[in-house]
Amino acid sequence: MDRYGLWIRGEFVDSNRNECFETRNPADQSVIARVARGRGEDVDAAVRVARSTFESDEWQSMHPAERGRILLRTSELIRRNRDELATLETLDNGKPLKQAQTDIEVSARYFEYYAGVADKILGETIPVSPGYIDFTQREPFGVCALIIPWNYPMQVAARTAAPALAAGNTVVLKPAEETPLTALKLGVLLKEAGLPDGAFNVVPGFGEEAGAALAAHPGIDHVSFTGSVPVGTEVMTSAAKNIVPVTLELGGKSPNIVFADADLEEAARWVVSSIIQNAGQTCSAGSRLLVELSIHDQFLSMVKARLESITVGPGIRNPDMGPIISEKQLRTVMGYIALAEEEGAEILTGGARLEDGELARGFFVAPTLLDRVPQGGRVATEEIFGPVLSTLTFEDVDEAISIANETPYGLVAGVHTRDLSKALTVAKKVRAGQVFINTYGAGGGVEMPFGGYGKSGFGREKGLEALLHFTQLKNVLIRYGS
Ligand code: ADP
Repeated sequence: MDRYGLWIRGEFVDSNRNECFETRNPADQSVIARVARGRGEDVDAAVRVARSTFESDEWQSMHPAERGRILLRTSELIRRNRDELATLETLDNGKPLKQAQTDIEVSARYFEYYAGVADKILGETIPVSPGYIDFTQREPFGVCALIIPWNYPMQVAARTAAPALAAGNTVVLKPAEETPLTALKLGVLLKEAGLPDGAFNVVPGFGEEAGAALAAHPGIDHVSFTGSVPVGTEVMTSAAKNIVPVTLELGGKSPNIVFADADLEEAARWVVSSIIQNAGQTCSAGSRLLVELSIHDQFLSMVKARLESITVGPGIRNPDMGPIISEKQLRTVMGYIALAEEEGAEILTGGARLEDGELARGFFVAPTLLDRVPQGGRVATEEIFGPVLSTLTFEDVDEAISIANETPYGLVAGVHTRDLSKALTVAKKVRAGQVFINTYGAGGGVEMPFGGYGKSGFGREKGLEALLHFTQLKNVLIRYGS
């Protein structure tokens, strides 16, 4: 069995207390690897290394184009190691191999994308009084803490680390305890690509130990957190005590709004893929179906048929859908299905754990379609994070918008209609950071700013916007006249 240390100063090291934890395959609960369990003192060591690297001549005198070249080489190395990384991700997280392969390609894209902008982080000149010149420049913060979740381990590591490094920061990353492996491999690839030791460090461990210690560390200059609302609140509270800026990418309860005039076959395809992907464990999952009353029966039977054709099994065999990440998450999902029945919803398909044969060893749930979910109830408004699609019905555009906006979240929204003015009216009025019209999801969406309204968080990841979030602005005024 593989054993992994903490990744600090370009090498694997044991944790200070020499403790480990096991990471398991959610398809059968087998142990994949033993991983060093970082705690406060390990986080402290990693932050110190990241700080001294940030301040070193080697880092400070590196031409931004060279940082770009290192990131570009990293993207090439990720692609070269695609099969190994995808297999590791599938074993650790459970997702189907083809989805893991996509994740690895998207991760390579993040490094490629931010490689290209490392030497194009521009400032402005600002007209001021005669005899003066004023300009701005974007500087790195220093040491960035990246606390990431288990649902897209490699992708989120790449989408946070690539812009942080491109902007000239150094990094301490805390992967989720369920899925620490690909982030550790990323450390090895960054070193191979020529990144100076100490610029990218990984401290695996538990949230309340390594995660909490990292968020509260006074040596951190910026925190990027992707995860749940309660933990996001804790991270922000810790950062607030040090006056450290945070980017929060939290949950969602995103709607797919389907109008009667949509291409229904296409819409059904998007509706199903957006809840099945990663077994619904995606912050931007299309977990609510808002359907126009006049097509309710027809459309639901299309969605139901598609859900019933989904193959479920261990990710390594490449089914359409893999297991839920853990027993705890399985209980949460099953709890919501039971609650849906209590609230008066109807289960049109699924609704049960799958335990036939080998599936009994893992955490598999049948793709589930709920109808007549009561508006404003818990199932209609809370994030389930599983393959459970909640249907609500509307009669006109205004009602669709009002139901769409009836959750505390606002991450993404899908609108399906052939009527452009209807689509744009919804896009304008829906409270969400990203709107998809006649599609859903962006295959990674590396170039497009992504982030939430409301309790889905703030700040933006991806695209040039994310790069700016990893910089702080300095204004310089020069007097040259008399
Ligand atoms: P999820 O519900 O998706 O597991 P969490 O918000 O619990 O999301 O976890 C996201 C990340 O936050 C993980 O890396 C986890 O270890 C970390 N984490 C959990 N608790 C804390 C905490 N108290 N402080 C900082 N990080 C934490």
